[in-house]
Amino acid sequence: MASILEISNLAKSYTSGSKTLKVLDDINFSITEKETFSIVGPSGSGKTTLLGLCAGLDKPDSGTVTLNGVELSSLTEDERALLRNKDVGFVFQDFQLLPTLTALENVAVPLELQGAKHAMKKAAELLTKVGLGDRGNHYASQLSGGEQQRVALARAFANDPKILFADEPTGNLDAETGETVVDLLFELNKELGTTLVLVTHDMELAQKTQNILTIKGGRIADLTKASL
Ligand code: ADP
Repeated sequence: MASILEISNLAKSYTSGSKTLKVLDDINFSITEKETFSIVGPSGSGKTTLLGLCAGLDKPDSGTVTLNGVELSSLTEDERALLRNKDVGFVFQDFQLLPTLTALENVAVPLELQGAKHAMKKAAELLTKVGLGDRGNHYASQLSGGEQQRVALARAFANDPKILFADEPTGNLDAETGETVVDLLFELNKELGTTLVLVTHDMELAQKTQNILTIKGGRIADLTKASL
């Protein structure tokens, strides 16, 4: 199988005032199409920074990120945004639904903005898939945390992404709700053939993925294939 994400010699620092903090150094790995992959490690070890670089949300100081055959540093901001719209889905710990839109609109509007046809129909189908076919007209404030994250899953899969990045997708949910959301995430991933990259501190969740990358102090401490 072809690799969908290749990370080579990646390094990233943050500078504030006269201080520079090296957050990632000498990061190398690749992810195969349709693989499930998790990034684990202590808080502050650089996981979220790494995910942002993988998704082209931020630029590395050095090294390369090749997403679906395209080296991201060769692109302009606009080109990177286009690539994200086309190939990438995101799920965040805090759901990030737009509060002024209904559940249905939260899924449909990004599609409409990209010029997709039948956005409302597709959004309705996805809401049904995540078990919220009857909640389309509810605003985020009228939904529980688990329901909001399910809407966020529907939104993340709406553009048929090749790769989906999820940053602590169960971090704001109780254990039982988190499990439901994770089951759904893996089901959709399998059904739609998406590559899944998770950041999590939950080893039980990480062990559900095929590969686990452990980051410590900004460097790769381990890369293991989980026993499935
Ligand atoms: P993790 O996801 O493993 O908790 P992060 O990637 O969020 O780690 O952060 C790694 C380190 O980089 C932390 O020390 C954090 O405080 C710092 N950091 C993260 N984002 C920024 C930023 N935008 N500016 C400055 N420092 C940052």
